[in-house]
Amino acid sequence: MSNCLFCRIASGEIPSAIVHQDDALVAFKDITPQAPLHILIVPRRHIATLNDLTPDDDALVGSMARLAAGLAREHGYDARGFRTVVNCNADAGQTVFHLHMHLLAGRGLSWPPG
Ligand code: AMP
Ligand code: ZN
Repeated sequence: MSNCLFCRIASGEIPSAIVHQDDALVAFKDITPQAPLHILIVPRRHIATLNDLTPDDDALVGSMARLAAGLAREHGYDARGFRTVVNCNADAGQTVFHLHMHLLAGRGLSWPPG
């Protein structure tokens, strides 16, 4: 989608601090980090929200979770711990309507979330 921020980041049209890319996924640093490590993992293909997933996307979402764990490990946070978050729609505070998984690590993360 030409007017979607994360489609434009995934295509390289808008610069970002990319930490991983492959055929299906791009991961880049969040521009307003909420923890010492805050990475966003997005599919290259435009999917607006979790509500828009189909069974065909099961492997894609699995690969997002595995990439999050791999990046956490790469940065030394696997044993200490980390959090993944996918916000969906208004009550969860979703602001960019291109599916993304937040990876947060490097500080104690309170529960329940705000
Ligand atoms: P959400 O509230 O779950 O939709 O998260 C959107 C996230 O995108 C927020 O954490 C923003 O800080 C982040 N964000 C917005 N614009 C950019 C950008 N140009 N590069 C990197 N992260 C961004
Ligand atoms: Zn998009």
